[in-house]
Amino acid sequence: MGMRQARILGILGARRFVCHDRAMTSRARSPQRTDARGARRSASASAVLRAVLDGGPIARSTIARRTGLSAAAVTGHTAELARLGLLHELVESGPEPRGRVGRPHVPVDLDTGRHVAGALHLAVHHATVALLDLRGNVLVQHEEPHDGLAAEDLLARAAEIFDDLLLGHAPDREPLGLGVATGGWVDRASGTVVEHPLLGWRNVPVRDLLTGSTGLAVEVDGHARALVHAERLFGHPRARDSVVQLFTGNVVDAAFATGAGVHHGPRSAAGAVAHLPVDGSTEPCRCGRTGCLEAAVSEGTLARAAVECGLLERPDFPELLALAESGHSAAARLFHERARLVGQAAALLLEVLNPAVLVVVDRSVTRVPGCLPIIRDEVRDRSRCPDPAETVVGTSFPGTELATAGGAVLLDVLYDDPLGPLLTGLPRAS
Ligand SMILES: [Zn+2]
Repeated sequence: MGMRQARILGILGARRFVCHDRAMTSRARSPQRTDARGARRSASASAVLRAVLDGGPIARSTIARRTGLSAAAVTGHTAELARLGLLHELVESGPEPRGRVGRPHVPVDLDTGRHVAGALHLAVHHATVALLDLRGNVLVQHEEPHDGLAAEDLLARAAEIFDDLLLGHAPDREPLGLGVATGGWVDRASGTVVEHPLLGWRNVPVRDLLTGSTGLAVEVDGHARALVHAERLFGHPRARDSVVQLFTGNVVDAAFATGAGVHHGPRSAAGAVAHLPVDGSTEPCRCGRTGCLEAAVSEGTLARAAVECGLLERPDFPELLALAESGHSAAARLFHERARLVGQAAALLLEVLNPAVLVVVDRSVTRVPGCLPIIRDEVRDRSRCPDPAETVVGTSFPGTELATAGGAVLLDVLYDDPLGPLLTGLPRAS
């Protein structure tokens, strides 16, 4: 065994020990955690932490005004959140020594230097492994091709890369855990990928496998929902009212949230829009029909179309994207035709769900001029949406959307229940 490998295993072993130790002692000490008082305390702490996320650096008197909590309650919560390493008090010369929070008008801010959130996004051809801070900033991301790897091998490889990133980029920070986002049907409660046809996965216990190899808390969710969490925490201000997210990569799916939270439905099966019929496509779908949204607009379909019309020698989507971005008119035209189909789906989702904002997560929306205006035009023609330019937007995380999706799965759990299991080892408040 090499030196580096031994170090990684050493760290893993130590972390696993700390994690279990903390969980057991805390549970034994605090049997009242799941009662109504515990849930109320957690909800208040969550409101304080979100107020600091939105407004930090922010005085505790302002937090009290914005959350409706008493000054004394805010003092108590900020002190506890500081003890957990989530907040610190600022003075003019910089952060105070950690954990000190006292004076009411001295601003507090998130302590982004103490913890780090792990992120894993599983796409059809590659995995993205990343580290994020508490504000959702991607500190480092790594892309790993994985064609041909079985689920267990891919997850083991991802855990190794995650540890390399921790060692190389955040050696002094404590990992909160690992958030995992992927397409297909993901059951968040059990941390299982129920079905991901494009990866060929059925009932893969992702959470259990990764908890076993990292010794950390692992949370798993569908990536469209993960990006909704990210938009609501760190992105578009109106996403907190209500938001629909439409993702169009190799996988096509959707998610939506209202003020109360992201909709999952039984076994988290919501958001399957892959087989929504669209006009003007004769592309055969894996379901046996033709003209389904995913078959019509997936990156693979577009890359094959580029080969058929002589633009590319082999179906390489990133190459086609680069061509269109550089102003190649025939390549751009392919993306523009596709944007009309995406616009049809966007219009339908807007009609059904009427959200404050609809976010299209698509690489061409970010990089190929003209795509977003075409989607908006289609929405204008096909829905009653009064202001498509305001309502239909691109992602708030261009270039880091996959890493952000994974990290948001974990950070959403943290912001939802900062006194919960991630930092305290206590059971989650319900
Ligand atoms: Zn279909």
